[in-house]
Amino acid sequence: MRIGALEAGGTKMVCAIGDETGRIYEQISIPTKTPEETVPEMIDYFKKAGVEALGIGCFGPIDPDRSSSTYGYITSTPKLAWANYNIVGVFEKALGCPVGFDTDVNGSVLGEVTFGQAKGKNCVIYVTIGTGVGAGIYIEGKLLHGMLHPEAGHVMIQRRADDTYGGKCPYHKNCLEGMAAGPAVEERWGQKAVALQDREEVWDLEAYYIAQALSGYILTLSPELIILGGGIMHQKQLFPMIRRYVAEMLNGYIQTEELKDMEHYIVPASLGDDQGIMGAIELGRRALIN
Ligand code: ADP
Ligand code: ZN
Repeated sequence: MRIGALEAGGTKMVCAIGDETGRIYEQISIPTKTPEETVPEMIDYFKKAGVEALGIGCFGPIDPDRSSSTYGYITSTPKLAWANYNIVGVFEKALGCPVGFDTDVNGSVLGEVTFGQAKGKNCVIYVTIGTGVGAGIYIEGKLLHGMLHPEAGHVMIQRRADDTYGGKCPYHKNCLEGMAAGPAVEERWGQKAVALQDREEVWDLEAYYIAQALSGYILTLSPELIILGGGIMHQKQLFPMIRRYVAEMLNGYIQTEELKDMEHYIVPASLGDDQGIMGAIELGRRALIN
């Protein structure tokens, strides 16, 4: 099977050709401009490769509901050129093949469940902490959509008393994304996140906020595994700090084997940075067999 995969992001579009085993044969990255500028180039790429199906993991919000009249659309995104854009329709028409579609983070969790460390698990959460914060949720063996799709990056968290930063989300004063995504870290501390590497107080506060959200996810969804990715999580020192805060916040209330072994419970992605694109391959494969 030759399957096309698209990881559609606000800054770049990663396009790849792979197969059902998750093997990636080739990959390109195109800067995200307007649909008029960016989409024809992608169509050209997938056409030349002769793909039998395409899977798209997309920045959102999107409409993933097959019974909806706006299924396959990017909906109310602040990236205005892409708002109300029928991304699935455009590729279906141009390529004449089945197209699978989900959020970028659902794509990532699917990649980890199909090809990575989460194989065989039934309830897994993938959280990306980068330019924004998002969570893909695989629950009872299925990608969770519900009425739309989870927007767990915007859960409210409690501000720490010593933090006077106002938050970056235009909708919420104290959601995780507004308090802890890359742009918030950089605005709060006045430096690029990577340049803050040695400032322990930066990552301590960051871990404290991320742990609050994770504790909420654990209490609500009872995941067997939590995978953290995205640019901010390149700061590997965050992992032990987050695990410690989560244990402290849950305070022994939940007793499971998983929580006793935090090091294998809250973990980095296992597929390098390919979990998203590999998940998109699986979305494409599923579209083809369905
Ligand atoms: P996106 O979310 O746009 O797909 P990333 O996941 O790479 O992209 O996230 C970008 C954000 O991550 C930037 O805002 C930056 O603050 C942060 N970031 C990127 N690399 C690092 C790093 N090595 N250490 C800390 N933060 C980083
Ligand atoms: Zn928010």
